[in-house]
Amino acid sequence: METITSSKQAIALEDKYGAHNYHPLPVVLTRGEGVFLWDVEGKKYYDFLSAYSAVNQGHCHPRIKNALVEQASTLTLTSRAFYNDVLGPFEKYVTEYFGFDKVLPMNTGAEGVETAIKIARKWGYERKGVAENEAKIIVAENNFHGRTTTIISFSNDPVARKNFGPYTNGFIKVPYNDTEALAEALKQPGVVGFLVEPIQGEAGVYVPDEGYLSKANQLCKDHQVLFIADEIQTGIARTGKLLAVDHENVKPDMLILGKAISGGFYPVSAVLADNEVMDVIKPGQHGSTFGGNPLGAKVAMAALDVIKDEKLAENAEYLGQIFRTRMQKVVEKYPIAKLVRGKGLLNAVVINDSEDSSTAWDICVRLADYGLLAKPTHGNIIRFAPPLVMTEEQIHECCDIIEKVIAEFDKK
Ligand SMILES: *Cc1c(COP(=O)(O)O)cnc(C)c1O
Repeated sequence: METITSSKQAIALEDKYGAHNYHPLPVVLTRGEGVFLWDVEGKKYYDFLSAYSAVNQGHCHPRIKNALVEQASTLTLTSRAFYNDVLGPFEKYVTEYFGFDKVLPMNTGAEGVETAIKIARKWGYERKGVAENEAKIIVAENNFHGRTTTIISFSNDPVARKNFGPYTNGFIKVPYNDTEALAEALKQPGVVGFLVEPIQGEAGVYVPDEGYLSKANQLCKDHQVLFIADEIQTGIARTGKLLAVDHENVKPDMLILGKAISGGFYPVSAVLADNEVMDVIKPGQHGSTFGGNPLGAKVAMAALDVIKDEKLAENAEYLGQIFRTRMQKVVEKYPIAKLVRGKGLLNAVVINDSEDSSTAWDICVRLADYGLLAKPTHGNIIRFAPPLVMTEEQIHECCDIIEKVIAEFDKK
C-alpha cells in the first residue's frame, strides 16, 4: 500500500482510482476520538457531521471498540444457515430496548428500507387482502431513504434518479408535513404503508409541524395502513429523544434503524415490528449473508448500551437548545444567515443565497480552516450534527467559530 504523507497525495489517489460518486470537502482524515477528527497534516477538527449521524457515540468509543475486538477474536460470521450464540441475545436486547416483538437485522440503511418495503407489501397481500401486484406505499416528497434502484424510484431528486430507470412501481408521493394530502392518498385502493422520515435530514433538516407525526399515524390506523418510520438518521438519541417519533409519543408499525445502531464501527441496520406484521416473513423469503452476524450484533449492543449509560439523548436535547439559541442570535445579527432549525443535535442553518450559489460550500471550507467540519446539503443549507458526547463548553466554542465565519461572509 502507498503510504500517505499529505492530503494532496490522498486526494489525487481517490480522484484517479475511485469512482467519482462523491464530492468531499478537501480534508483527509486519519484519526478520530470522541468529538474530534485529525487530518494527515495533524490538524484537529470538531466533527459536525458525525458520518451522517452514524457516530452519535463519538469516534472510536472504547466500549464499542472493545466489544468489536473481543467478538472479532471469537466468531465473526456464520451466515444464517446455522444459529449463533450472539444473535438471539441481540434480538432480545434490541426488541426490548425499542419496545417491539421482533427484529429483522440487515447491514446498510438502504437494505433496512428495502426490507420494510417487502414486509409491508407482503403484509398487505396476506393480511389486508390487497389484490396481487396492486400494493402501494405512500412516501413524502423530498425524501431520502437510500440509493437502491427501488428507493431512488420514489425519490424526486433529479441527481439521484436521472438515467437510472426503469423505475419500480407502487409508490405514491405526497407533500411532506401535509396530513390533508396524506388523507387523500390513503383513499386510493391498495395502500399498505406510509414510509416517512420524522425529520427530513438529507433534504435539509426539515422539521414537520408539531402534531404531524401523530396525526399521520392516526390516519394510517384509520385506513389499516402501516406507519413506517425511517429513523436511520433521526433515531438513537440524535434529536434529543431515543427516537424522533417519541417527541409525539408515536409507536410506528415498523421502525427502520441504521447508522448509529453500531456507533460507526460496522454496518448494522434493523427493521422492528410486532408479530402481526413480522410474522408474514417465512424462511427463504428475505435475508442477507452478513445480516445478524455475531460481530455486528455485539457491536450494536455495545453501541446501544453507550446511548443509555451516557444519557446521550438528554445531552443532545440540552446542547441542542444552546446551539439553536446561539444560532438564532447569529441569524438576527447577520443577514447572510437566514434561519436555524432542528431538534436535539440535528440542526441546520440556511444561508441567505440562491440554491446554486457556492456560499454554503465556501463557508464550510472556511469552517474547516478554523477547525470545524460541516457539509452543505442541497446548496444553501448547512447541517450541524456533532457527536452527542459533546460538552457544554465545547458547543459554545463551536458556536463561536461558526459565528466568526458567518460574520466574515456577511461582510463580503
Ligand atoms: C443514510 C440514510 C439512509 C440510507 O442508509 P445507508 O446506510 O447509507 O444505506 C436511509 N434513510 C435515511 C433517513 C438516511 O439518513
